[in-house]
Amino acid sequence: MENIRVYSHSACLSKDNGEGHPERKERLESILDSIRRIDDLSIELKEAPKAQYKDINLVHPQSYLDEIFEMIPSIGLVGVEKEPYADTLLCPDSKEAILRACGSGISASKDIMDGSFKRIFCAVRPPGHHAETSRVNGFCFLNNAAVAARYLQSSYDIKKIAIIDFDVHHGNGTQEIFYDDSSVLYASIHQHPLFPGTGLESETGVGNIFNAPIEAGTSSEEFLRIFNEKILVNVESFEPEVIIISAGFDAHKRDPLATINLNSEDYFTMTNDIVEIANRHSKGRVISFLEGGYDLQALSESIQSHFKGLSA
Ligand SMILES: [Zn+2]
Repeated sequence: MENIRVYSHSACLSKDNGEGHPERKERLESILDSIRRIDDLSIELKEAPKAQYKDINLVHPQSYLDEIFEMIPSIGLVGVEKEPYADTLLCPDSKEAILRACGSGISASKDIMDGSFKRIFCAVRPPGHHAETSRVNGFCFLNNAAVAARYLQSSYDIKKIAIIDFDVHHGNGTQEIFYDDSSVLYASIHQHPLFPGTGLESETGVGNIFNAPIEAGTSSEEFLRIFNEKILVNVESFEPEVIIISAGFDAHKRDPLATINLNSEDYFTMTNDIVEIANRHSKGRVISFLEGGYDLQALSESIQSHFKGLSA
């Protein structure tokens, strides 16, 4: 059984999106409470440091960061995106949350490379997979998973990285960032049509993008079959040196933002399958980032299944 390190920070709880917003601090509180209740696994919680600009700049240009941080209000909230997506917001405490969320992946990368941990979970918000190179989108500012991937490639002798995204929404940001980069495989299963609207099977990049769009109402059994046939098979043959997971838990049947029917235990099955591939090809190295998931009970249960899979 593998030990799991968890990165998080209180700043990630201070990111406020206002009343009634689905991406709220209670999501992370529910996840952290649930992690603390796990008593049969070896889990170590650690504070996420702030990411440095030079590392973030491996993905996002400095002008983009400056633009975001200059928009941060001293009181209240400010919407960053134009209509119809006016729900990506900055609050006075945003900067530290954004930098700590991204910094978690940098520290996680160091940990898996120095061998201190093979499995890391970044329990952070804001999430990242909708953030493109120079575009804020879908509650996301910096693409935490993408920065970790680029950091690993630039700092270590790591070439091939697979990013597996089982959030119910397509990770348009991650796809855009790596669309022409054969060293990074991006594989996503997501409800379609649904926000952000991308993620057709015909979007293949340079043969490194694998999209599995699924219909509203898809059952747990069907989801897992498609995940196996269209995601895992391709990751297996890519033989990645590190696997990164964009772990959203909004394909759960209880989630209010989508209509897929996963049960909490299915997150064990998917994670366990990913870990088995990592054990075969990636020296067991897996970094998982919290993305979406908006029902507190589903989050609480699903995270325990995810951790059971990560520790296997
Ligand atoms: Zn999502």
